[in-house]
Amino acid sequence: MIRSIISKVFGRKRSASGTGARILPRAEHGISRNGIDDCALKVCETLAASGYKSYVVGGAVRDLLLGIAPKDFDVATDATPEQVRKLFRRSRIIGRRFQIVHVMCGRETIEVTTFRANGQKESEEEDERPTDEHGRLLSDNVFGSMADDAARRDFSINALYYDPAREEVHDYFGGVEDCRKRVLRMIGDPETRYREDPVRMLRAARFAAKLDFRIDEATRAPVARLAPLLANIPRARIFDEALKLLLSGHALRGVHQLRAEGLHHGMLPLLDTILDDPTGERFITAALRSTDQRIQSDRPSSPAFLFASLLWPQVATRWRALESAGEKPQPALFLAMDDVLDAQRHQLAIPRRYDGMMKEIWALQPRFEQRGGQRPYRLLEHPRFRAAYDFLLLRAESGEVEAELGEWWTRFQEADEQARAGMLTADSGPKPRRKRRRRKSGEASDGEAQPA
Ligand code: ATP
Ligand code: MG
Repeated sequence: MIRSIISKVFGRKRSASGTGARILPRAEHGISRNGIDDCALKVCETLAASGYKSYVVGGAVRDLLLGIAPKDFDVATDATPEQVRKLFRRSRIIGRRFQIVHVMCGRETIEVTTFRANGQKESEEEDERPTDEHGRLLSDNVFGSMADDAARRDFSINALYYDPAREEVHDYFGGVEDCRKRVLRMIGDPETRYREDPVRMLRAARFAAKLDFRIDEATRAPVARLAPLLANIPRARIFDEALKLLLSGHALRGVHQLRAEGLHHGMLPLLDTILDDPTGERFITAALRSTDQRIQSDRPSSPAFLFASLLWPQVATRWRALESAGEKPQPALFLAMDDVLDAQRHQLAIPRRYDGMMKEIWALQPRFEQRGGQRPYRLLEHPRFRAAYDFLLLRAESGEVEAELGEWWTRFQEADEQARAGMLTADSGPKPRRKRRRRKSGEASDGEAQPA
């Protein structure tokens, strides 16, 4: 069956472009070829020179229309992956089930995809797409026409094709108008499209936050009801989507959007607990705002730091509880870290590769309170000092520790040797973190009020 579709599609390679597209000239869409990355232009030119159709597609066209610098450039073509690979020396086919071609030029990689079908096919025989019992598409590796390719995309604003040779935009579903109106609209019947791929619900929240778009009512309505379908999605895919949202530069808005749509249960289930507690809310807000600022100013932001932040309100709560129960600060913190990491493993599935760095950031926190003797100097030299210090500042900003503590460490780093020596506190041992730290075992612990 697949072979018959391929021959059908590629047999009409040079026929007119897909039906139903509105073709907008430069004057109407305003995108200049100069906005397109050189590598993507070269890929399109090479494909066109061999008689294939080639368009810049997806997020890049949308972002250019909106005046945002695109993150990456994807190209869609009617050439098969094998035909694409033959045209570019530095290229390779990725993926088995659904193949795409990575074309490298310089340090860049352009993703080239062959037009795919996933919407309704022309004949009934071809519409027997395999789905699971909830309507989730199990396979989408059927080649199709350009119109098919547009119809299988998620939102109207993501189904825009830019032809660099003619400087035209092909718009199948009113995406240009939706960009103008700042509306996120699902292509086709929203419920069916969410059932085909529930991750589209998370993508809706992400794009609405990233672009500051309103979600069209028909597109939004089914989400609250269908959100539980996310439970059927592999954890790794949910995690990837979570990361995209958190590193989008609009994480703060994104997280609130997720919660408003009831989508966080499948993604960040801790969010309710965290945001309902004022200190937790302040901490997460400070953390996400600072991540957003870093990303918006092109500074690196590490996923481990982010996840350490998201989990911290729980770690801190558990830490305090264990301390109240008589545990010493450092062991209490280590126990709390393990408890929280174990619990989230079943919920959010943060990959274990981030554990090491998250634990280091957390474990260094009590050491900031030790400001006598050689300890501050040793802490400064710790390879994770910088991340742990940034983390301390978030704790100070949210009122979890005294602002003075964060300020002390800022000054200590900037001070010269003499000034540093003058800043050290008299005691050389650990400063008591809490007044009751020296409680002897056997003293009452539970039910006592914690000092603020
Ligand atoms: P970003 O700026 O975040 O990269 P993007 O729109 O480029 O946004 P990608 O995840 O890179 O998003 O996907 C590229 C394109 O592939 C999208 O614009 C969309 O057309 C299509 N696409 C991606 N994921 C889906 C999906 N789950 N369902 C339908 N179409 C999708
Ligand atoms: Mg993209």
